[in-house]
Amino acid sequence: MPARAPRVCGHCGGVHQSGERCPKAAARDRERKARHDARRPNARKRGYDREWEKARAEYLAAYPFCRRCGAKADLVDHIIPIRKAPHRRLDRTNFMALCTPCHSGWKQAQDKRT
Ligand SMILES: [Zn+2]
Ligand SMILES: [Zn+2]
Repeated sequence: MPARAPRVCGHCGGVHQSGERCPKAAARDRERKARHDARRPNARKRGYDREWEKARAEYLAAYPFCRRCGAKADLVDHIIPIRKAPHRRLDRTNFMALCTPCHSGWKQAQDKRT
């Protein structure tokens, strides 16, 4: 097959000069890259959530009652907030089991304090 023969493009069905990049293929690559970039932070977030969900479920199984009022705990909160100690996010000694009402009250009190 002669090297300089025009080729029918597999992307757009048109004929391009040899060495010319198909604009449709280029656009498709750009779009694919943009989609990939847009997906990346979410993938990281999903990993974060999975890790946290696992730690949270294990902690709730071990400490099923609210630390403040003794009711059934609904969630796990951080004693030292993550924004102050990001490295203690999965540190179980920084966890406490809370019921929803206590969690709301606790968070509100904390927000007033800070
Ligand atoms: Zn083309
Ligand atoms: Zn409670």
